[in-house]
Amino acid sequence: MPVKGLGDYDDSNVFARILRGEIPCKKAYEDAFALAFHDIAPQAPVHVLVIPKGKYVSIADFTAKAADAEIAGFFRAVGTVARQLELEAPGYRILANMGEHSGQEVPHFHVHIFGGRPLGRMLA
Ligand code: 5GP
Repeated sequence: MPVKGLGDYDDSNVFARILRGEIPCKKAYEDAFALAFHDIAPQAPVHVLVIPKGKYVSIADFTAKAADAEIAGFFRAVGTVARQLELEAPGYRILANMGEHSGQEVPHFHVHIFGGRPLGRMLA
C-alpha cells in the first residue's frame, strides 16, 4: 500500500534513471545501500544527494517499508559521505523533503547534504 502523500514508485523518475546508469551523475560515493552524487543545481558550495538503492518514494515510504539493514546502511552512508567530503569539522546540514508541503520534486527518497559555508538557521 502506498504511503500517504505520494503514489506508487515510478520507475521513470530521474533518480531511478541515474541508478540504472541511463543518466550520468557526478558520483561522490556508492556502496551496497546508497548512491551519492552532486546536485545538478547546487544551493551551497557542497550540495550532494544521497539516495537508497531500493525503490522508495519518500522518507515516509522508506521508514515504513525498508528493512532495518537498509535503513542502517543508508544513514551510515549519509554520514560517510559527509565525512569523506570533509564536512564534519566545519559542519553541514542534511534535509529530506516529503510530499507537497515540502516541495519534494523527485519521487525517489533522497537526503540532501549541504555544506561549504555557514548555512544560517533552519528554514530560510
Ligand atoms: P527535492 O526537491 O525532490 O527534495 O530535490 C530534488 C533535487 O534533485 C533538486 O535539488 C534538483 O536540483 C536535483 N535534481 C533534479 N534532477 C537532477 C538530475 O538529473 N541530476 C542531479 N544530479 N540532480 C538532479
